[in-house]
Amino acid sequence: FQALRETDPEIADVVVDELQRLRGGVQLIASENFTSPAVLAALGSTLTNKYAEGYPGRRYYGGCREVDRAEELGIERAKALFGAEHANLQPHSGASANLAAYAALLMPGDTVLAMELPHGGHLTHGSKVNFSGKWFNTVGYPVSKEDELIDYDEVRDLALTHRPKMIICGATAYPRLIDFARFRQIADEVGAYLMVDAAHFIGLVAGRAIPSPVPHADVVCFTTHKVLRGPRGGMILCKESLAQRIDKAVFPFTQGGPLMHVVAAKAVALKEAAQPAFADYARQVVANARELAAGLAAEGMRPVSGGTDTHLALIDLRGLGITGREAEERCDANGITLNKNAIPYDPEKPMTASGIRVGTPSVTTQGMREPEMREIASLIGAALRGEKVADRVTELVTRFPAYPVPLTAAP
Ligand code: PLP
Repeated sequence: FQALRETDPEIADVVVDELQRLRGGVQLIASENFTSPAVLAALGSTLTNKYAEGYPGRRYYGGCREVDRAEELGIERAKALFGAEHANLQPHSGASANLAAYAALLMPGDTVLAMELPHGGHLTHGSKVNFSGKWFNTVGYPVSKEDELIDYDEVRDLALTHRPKMIICGATAYPRLIDFARFRQIADEVGAYLMVDAAHFIGLVAGRAIPSPVPHADVVCFTTHKVLRGPRGGMILCKESLAQRIDKAVFPFTQGGPLMHVVAAKAVALKEAAQPAFADYARQVVANARELAAGLAAEGMRPVSGGTDTHLALIDLRGLGITGREAEERCDANGITLNKNAIPYDPEKPMTASGIRVGTPSVTTQGMREPEMREIASLIGAALRGEKVADRVTELVTRFPAYPVPLTAAP
């Protein structure tokens, strides 16, 4: 860090200020976490210099002996942790992993059935502004109006009507468990591939806190930086029979050289996620999300679907008469970071939204538990009523510091 400070004080200031921001507030973005110092060390290493197009033992560049070891370790760890037949650690992001899955299994124009964006799906699940919606014929399934859960009979009806070549399950804002076996049945009935986009919840799978999609899916794509607590990036697991197609779809079809510092950092995160302490962490993430959702309900907000089984809760604010955007702003002004979010059948536009999404990966990494979740719910309630709670937020996070190291050694 000293080298950065001397060479580029402006960027050094950005790094320190961001660390201060992280430490100074409550971070409730469901897709974020605090990676460990070990992961940060791998990311900040000279592995970033290495070109390594190809795969371990089959590279297009010399000098790959060392980085091969990192990627091989990562692949073995991923296969062991998730019980997968094949793992690819090279996707630069979750969107890149999904693009590679489409490329491996489909041709442009093929039909894909996935959750509708306003109901919790991701842009790569068929949005018109994304490659998925432009190059593929995507059909969306909603959640039920009554209970806000996936209606598997409706998914089956849509599959029988549209005969998709691939069905996607997994979402960005669905707080409940997904019945992967049921999706497998539906996919088999229409002869479709089943792709699970496990970006949000794969860390809970790693910690054995929720059921795994791996035995049911043809391909599982995910990000490594959410509950899993790794570096920013993507990963793909698949059956051995699809291994070559997936590998070729990542490189050379959709990517060039892998980011070997990130691949190594993914390997580190996988090692950490295999430790018993990570299972405790994953269980606590879910317990905290449940407590937070219940606490917000006690403050007059409505958890979509009545609660959560995962690391996130989607909260309908219409009972309070404020929008998601207003809530995001009021929380932000008090040091609470969360995001506005559309709720199913939302009457508001996405940039306004009727809801917020809250997640517990970061606060759980800080060591917070149920009593702190009740406190956070009460702080959010007060902030939304227009009260000033920044001092109470500071007092809370001072008791649970993120990255408790001196600033001179800023991660
Ligand atoms: N898939 C899902 C379900 C996601 O929630 C996200 C990101 O939040 C992605 C894919 C894309 O990941 P990335 O932002 O790394 O491209």
